[in-house]
Order: sequence, then structure tokens, then C-alpha cells
Amino acid sequence: ATANIGVVGLAVMGSNLARNLASREGNTVAVYNRSRSKTDELTAAHPEAEFVPAFSYEEFAASLQKPRAAIIMVKAGRPTDAVIDSLVEVFEPGDIIVDGGNALFTDTIRREKAVRETGINFVGAGISGGEEGALNGPSIMPGGSDESWVTLGPILKSIAAVAEGEPCVTHVGHDGAGHFVKMVHNGIEYADMQLIAEAYDLIRRGTGKTPAEIAEVFAEWNTGELESYLIEITAEVLRQVDAATGRPLVDVILDQAGAKGTGAWTVQTALSLGVPVSGIAEATFARSLSSHPEQREVSRDLPGPSTSSGTEEGLTVDDADAFIEDVRLALYASKIVAYSQGFDEIRAGAAEYDWTIDLGAVSKIWRAGCIIRAQFLNRIADAYAAEPELPVLLTAPYFVEALGRAQGAWRRIVSAAAGAGIPAPAFSSSLSYYDGLRAERLPAALVQGQRDFFGAHTYKRIDKEGTFHTLWSGDRTEIEAEDTH
Ligand code: NDP
Repeated sequence: ATANIGVVGLAVMGSNLARNLASREGNTVAVYNRSRSKTDELTAAHPEAEFVPAFSYEEFAASLQKPRAAIIMVKAGRPTDAVIDSLVEVFEPGDIIVDGGNALFTDTIRREKAVRETGINFVGAGISGGEEGALNGPSIMPGGSDESWVTLGPILKSIAAVAEGEPCVTHVGHDGAGHFVKMVHNGIEYADMQLIAEAYDLIRRGTGKTPAEIAEVFAEWNTGELESYLIEITAEVLRQVDAATGRPLVDVILDQAGAKGTGAWTVQTALSLGVPVSGIAEATFARSLSSHPEQREVSRDLPGPSTSSGTEEGLTVDDADAFIEDVRLALYASKIVAYSQGFDEIRAGAAEYDWTIDLGAVSKIWRAGCIIRAQFLNRIADAYAAEPELPVLLTAPYFVEALGRAQGAWRRIVSAAAGAGIPAPAFSSSLSYYDGLRAERLPAALVQGQRDFFGAHTYKRIDKEGTFHTLWSGDRTEIEAEDTH
């Protein structure tokens, strides 16, 4: 046995991860793939790498030092279960099986429970950063037992991205905690992308600037508080000219955004936890709306302001620079809301599933390697360092100041979008969430009254203890009631 770590599944993600592992001092990497050709290709293409190829699970297990540790990078779902079963056959108590695929956290909880019964450790690890991240340094979000972290920690630290000298990996929490956090990461990514897209759309329709000119706006933003990978690549995409037509590429790409489902998972989970992740939900739904051409086709002539540029009804902007600055501030404020909601979901998930998750540590491991990497995450880390139990992230002093600064601009932009008939679902829902949080009284009182009317769901009063019900179909007096909220 010569290898200290193994990789099962040598498609693009697995082979890149194996190469990353092999390139770090001290690692020898056992590699196995169901079909032999991928293993042969990998070892032939990288003779310099310290690979120990295996062609059966027995050989793979024999090539690993104990406690054995292997990372699975195969198709999520049944293939992952099949590989876990095979590894359980050849591994021993104390060994570690890591699933690095995009598993749903509830699958990870189930798998961890089943594998633990054999005495083997199971770690669900979210790995972000795509192919390039896997090769050069991803952000890694491992769950699993403390025991497995002892062996795995140094290995994962050796391959993770590095942000300000710190590796972008932390032991997130037990069983499904890592995949849960990865799921929310992806949800936040959806919101971030949608907000950027809305900002682009408003600038384009408001100022008539070309995509190439707007690319310069984003490049400029990328030097300030919005600095992030997504802003950076937005400038790249907007700058791109289509070779076939000579038009901006963004104008020839069909306006339908796809999704692989992690955004939907984040929203579904938030719904069952009762966490309002409205920015993430709107971003997910915006992709759904875009992907229904038949509905959009029959709706095109619905009444409303003309949305084509250059018409009198469209967005009228007198001072383009001031408008762009407003959009920037609205984007920043909405982004704060989206992250605050995402961290709220992690907090609620930790409470529900009994995980101890250090939210500041999570924000730090997202600073490099992953898609939402950004300067901004340092501010989140600072907020949790100052107050680890912060109930609402956006109430941290730094964000309060930023939101205060963005206020006017944020409201002007949402009003302008509504007035001009430009959809800005993530901008406007973020603002509504913010105002909902701030509100001294919400019309929820009326909703609760309605619930009591038709379903005797009872209500509480602002002026005394207890639970009450009005006899709506009787003489409408109020009685004390059992709490059926
Ligand atoms: P794929 O998801 O395309 O999976 C292909 C691999 O799965 C091959 O090695 C294949 O083996 C193996 N496989 C499929 N079925 C079985 C089975 N029944 N038993 C054993 N092996 C099987 O590979 P990717 O590299 O694209 O992704 C790997 C994982 O990483 C996935 O879970 C994916 O969701 C995740 N991922 C994560 C990304 C990220 O940014 N974090 C980006 C992309 C993927 P064979 O060669 O024999 O067919």
C-alpha cells in the first residue's frame, strides 16, 4: 500500500481532482474508474504524476494506506450509491469514503447513517469551482465525522484554493452539513447571477450603451466593493463578439437560462424550513420563466409600457452616469440581502439537523476557488467574528451602513423598473424583504384574522397573553382558545 488518498471516477472532475492531489507534496494517489480506458488515459497523459492505477475495487483498497481514504467523483444519484456499496465491501472500519459529487444533503444524511453502521466513515463533501477549480484549487465543504477530518483535513487543505493565506476548506459539520452548505452556495450563486443580469438589462435599456460599453462598467465595478468572479466574467461575456455574425455574443445567445437543480433544492429546502430566501427563489423562477418560450410568445402583446428601447414609454434617463451609480448601489444592496438570506438558511438548517456550523468559517472558504468568490465575503466573516450568533446578517454594522448608503438608489431603481415595465424580480423582491424586516407592523395581522375567520386558527393579541378566537359565525365575541397557530 503506497497511496495516501484515492479517487474513484475519472471523468473530468475526478481526473482533475486526482491531478491536483498528485501535484501536492506528500500525496500519492490511487485511481480507479469503472471503465478501464479512463484510468489508462489519465496515467498515460500524466506520467509525471504519482498515480497508482487500480483495475478492481480490491486492487484499489490494497493500494491505499490505512486508514484508507477515497474520494468518489461519479455521477450523482444511483451511480454514487453503487460505488459506495463496492467500497464498503473492500474497506474496513476506520476507513473513509468521501462523496465529492453534487449530492442532495438528505441523500448524504442517509448514506452517512448506513455507512457508519459498518464502522466506516462517510463524508459528503461539496466541491465548488467546476473543472478548473478541481484542477487548481476548489473551495471544499466537507461534512462527516470528527474522526474522518483528522485524516482528511490535511489532504483537503493541500488541494484547496487559498484565500489570503488560508485554505478554502473547513470541517463544516456532521453528516450532510457539507452538502447542505454547498447547496446554499449554489442558491446564492443563482441570486448573484440574476442580480447582475438585471443590472445589465437596466443599464442597457436606460442608457442605450452597447454590451461592450457595459462590459467596461462591470470592469470598473470589479475594482470596488462589488469585486467578484461573477462581475469579472460578466465583463468578459459582454465584451465577446460573435464570430459568425459580428454581433455581441450576448445578443445571439437564446434568452433561456438552464438549471441543474441546485437552486431549486435550495428553495425547496428553505420552504420546508420556513426561511424566506426570496432573492434565490426569484432568481430560480426567473430562469424558469425564461425557459417557457410558448408562454412568452402568447404574452408578448399584454398591455404595458413598451419595453423596446428608443420609445417614449421606455426608461428615460437624463444622467447616465448617475443612473449607473444607482444601479450599482441597488445591486450591492440586493446582493447583501441575497447573502443574508442564504446564511439564514444555513443557520436554520443547522438548527433543524443539529449541526454546529461556524458561519464565519463558511464565508471564508468561499473567498476563493468557488463561483461566488468575492471580496465581500470578508465582510461577512468580520460580521460573524464580531457576533457569532448574529440572527440577521444584514443587521451587522458594516451592512447597515452600506444599505443606508444604497437606500435611495435602490428605491429609485426598483421604481424606475416598475414604471418602465422592465422585469427586475430579484432587485424588487430583495427590497420588499428588506422593508418587510424593517416594518414595525406587518399586514400579517390581517392574514391571521382571515385564518381565524375561515379555519378557527386563532390569534394572539398585542395587549395580553393567551390565544384567542372570534366566534365569526356566531355573535362575534372573542373567546380564549387552544393555540392552533
Ligand atoms: P459525470 O457526472 O459525467 O460522471 C461520469 C463518471 O461517473 C465516470 O467516471 C463514470 O464511469 C462514472 N459512473 C457512472 N455510472 C457509474 C456506475 N454505475 N458505477 C461506477 N461509476 C459510474 O462526471 P463529472 O466528472 O462531470 O462529475 C462528477 C461529479 O462531480 C458529479 O457528481 C457531478 O455532479 C459533480 N460535478 C461537480 C462540479 C462542480 O463544479 N463541483 C462540476 C461538474 C460536476 P465510466 O467512465 O465507467 O462511465
